[in-house]
Amino acid sequence: MSLLKVSGLGKSFGGVRAVDGVHFELAPGELLALIGPNGAGKSTTFNMVNGQLRADSGSILLDGHELIGKTPREIWRLGVSRTFQIAETFASLTVVENVQMALLSADRKLFAMWRRAADHQRERALALLDQVSMKAQADRPCSVLAYGDVKRVELAIAMANDPKLLLMDEPTAGMAPKERNNLMALTKELVLDRGMAVLFTEHSMDVVFAYADRMIVLARGRLIAEGQPLAVRDDPKVQEVYFGSGKTFEKAV
Ligand code: ADP
Ligand code: MG
Repeated sequence: MSLLKVSGLGKSFGGVRAVDGVHFELAPGELLALIGPNGAGKSTTFNMVNGQLRADSGSILLDGHELIGKTPREIWRLGVSRTFQIAETFASLTVVENVQMALLSADRKLFAMWRRAADHQRERALALLDQVSMKAQADRPCSVLAYGDVKRVELAIAMANDPKLLLMDEPTAGMAPKERNNLMALTKELVLDRGMAVLFTEHSMDVVFAYADRMIVLARGRLIAEGQPLAVRDDPKVQEVYFGSGKTFEKAV
């Protein structure tokens, strides 16, 4: 039984068909990688699922409920989360305060009240930080953390609404290979612990092959392949997109 069922999804910007008839399903506890060259429509697809962009056509069902037409906030409350970069304005807050902010938002508390209400959320925030091995650094300002640790805090924040589905658009961008693997291993743990589904984009094929249960490939807005990562790599249509210049698949992506 799928958690997310996307069908006939379409979005144009002026004359450009950014996403054109995309369809895929995602089951609880599944890590699905979305890959494709720059401009393939990956971010546009993400932003239609999270409600930032409204689809022109098609359907996005979460547990059978249509998401198209709902606001980002409504979709988030239904259990679709995404990783955000911690804004510079919040970097001066401590690690635990950043997570508390997200919890308050999940509980519909007023932003202005957060300092008073924050005390009540501290234990829950610490529990979330524990899941990403950041509890020991809870009272340090985010601004002093190592990059890989900031990414862990961002993941804890994304867990604040106890999501059924987590969207990660290029989560490992700018990370060294070891940090990438650490972040994806942690994501995989959260998937297994919570039965959460994850849709992510990734440029490193090593990461995709190591962590994705399945992958889908977009090219010029269309879905050209879907399946087990190693089988997809050998699909002639995928080879054509990535091998045009004679480069190897790994190097081209
Ligand atoms: P990807 O994330 O796979 O690199 P995008 O979804 O960002 O691709 O973009 C798909 C296509 O849609 C590209 O041709 C891009 O230029 C275009 N596009 C994306 N967002 C906009 C926008 N807000 N306005 C106009 N064109 C856009
Ligand atoms: Mg993108």
